[in-house]
Amino acid sequence: MKQDTKIVSAGRDPEANLGVVNPPVYHTSTILQPSLGEMRRKGEARARGETVTMYGRIGHPTSLALEEAMAEIEGGHRCFAFPSGLAAIAAALTAYVGTGDHVLVTDSAYRPTRSYCDGLLKRMGVETTYYDPLIGGGIAGLIRENTKIVYVEAPGSQTFDMQDIPAIAEAAHAAGAVVMMDNTWATPLYFRPFEKGVDVSVHAGTKYVVGHSDAMLGLVTTTEAAWDPLRATAQMLGQCVGPDDVYLGLRGLRTLSVRLERHMKNGIEIARWLEQRPEVDRVLHPALPSHPGHDIWKRDFLGASGLFSIVLKEGYDDDDLARMIDGYELFGLGASWGGYESLVISQKPEQYRTAVPWNGPGLLVRYHVGLEDPEDLKEDLAKGFERLGS
Ligand SMILES: *Cc1c(COP(=O)(O)O)cnc(C)c1O
Repeated sequence: MKQDTKIVSAGRDPEANLGVVNPPVYHTSTILQPSLGEMRRKGEARARGETVTMYGRIGHPTSLALEEAMAEIEGGHRCFAFPSGLAAIAAALTAYVGTGDHVLVTDSAYRPTRSYCDGLLKRMGVETTYYDPLIGGGIAGLIRENTKIVYVEAPGSQTFDMQDIPAIAEAAHAAGAVVMMDNTWATPLYFRPFEKGVDVSVHAGTKYVVGHSDAMLGLVTTTEAAWDPLRATAQMLGQCVGPDDVYLGLRGLRTLSVRLERHMKNGIEIARWLEQRPEVDRVLHPALPSHPGHDIWKRDFLGASGLFSIVLKEGYDDDDLARMIDGYELFGLGASWGGYESLVISQKPEQYRTAVPWNGPGLLVRYHVGLEDPEDLKEDLAKGFERLGS
C-alpha cells in the first residue's frame, strides 16, 4: 500500500464497530475480563510483550488504534502514545540508559530535550555530550565505550541545521549505540527514519499529527530490536493518553498528507519572499538552495513542513523586533506549531548552544506558515518590516 492509502486506512476496522468509519472513543479505566482464566492468560500475554486490553493505563482500544496506525505509516515495528512530545522524548531517552552511561545529543536539539538531559538524566548518573549538528560520520570520534544513544534532530526546530543521519547512524551502530531521532519537523511522510538508520523515532504529535492546535500528544515508534526497553520504560513510568486526545490525534492523522503539502507550498513561497527582503540576512529553510544543508535535504527528505527561521540583519534590537511581531495580525505569537494557523516566535540560540556557539549575527525569528492565503501572509509580514524599520 502507498503512503496516502495507509494514512486513510491504518488503525481502522469499521466492520468491528458497526460500520462506523472512525474508531470509537473508549473512556475507560477498568476493562472487565470474562473469567479468571482469561485474565491470567492476558497477563501472561502482556508479560510476553503482546498488546492486550486489561486496564486503561495499559492500553485502551482508542490508543491502540493510533499506535497501530502510526507504526504502520512510519514503517516501524510498534508505537507507544504519550501525553506530550516531551514525555515521549523523556521516556525514550530513559529507556536505553543506566547509571554510568553516556549519550550524544545534537546541539540543535529542542531545548526541553536538553533540560531533560541536564536535569533528570544527569541525576541518574548519565552524562550528555552535545555535538556539532553538522558532524556527520565524525561522530565516531565522540562515541565512547559507554555511549548508549546518539540523538539526532533534523532540521533543528530553531536553527534548522541539517544532519547527515545515515552517516551518523552508521558510526553509532558500529559502536552498538541506539540512534534516536526527533522527527517532528518532517513527520513520517517527509522523512522515513527506519530507512535511514534510525532505531527510535520520536514525535511531538501535538504539532502536525494533531494539526489543529487543540491537543497534546507524543508518539514513539521503534524498530523491533528497540521496542522492549521503550515499552517497558513507558509502562513503568505510567505513561498513557486519555482517549479524547488520542482521538484528536487519529483524526488529524487522516488529513496529514494534504495539510503538509499545503504547509510545504505556502512555507516555501513565504521563505523565498523573505529571502528578497532587505531586512533579512538569511532564511533558514532547508528546501531553499541557499541553505547549507539543502543537498542533504534533497537526498534524504521527501518534503518540507511549514516551519523555518530567518536571521535579521544586524542592527535591530528587541524593541524593533517587538514592534514588528506585536503588530502582526495573522502570525500569532505563541509556542508550538503544526496547526492550521500561522505563528511566529523569537528565540536566542546563543543562550543555550554549547558545542558550536551560535552567532546569528542578527536576531532569529521563527515562522510557522499555516494554511492561510500566502498573499495575505506576505502583506502581514511586509507591514511588520515597515514597523521594524520605523
Ligand atoms: C513541541 C516539540 C516537542 C515537544 O512536544 P510537546 O508535545 O510540546 O511536549 C518536541 N520536539 C520538537 C521539535 C518540538 O517542536
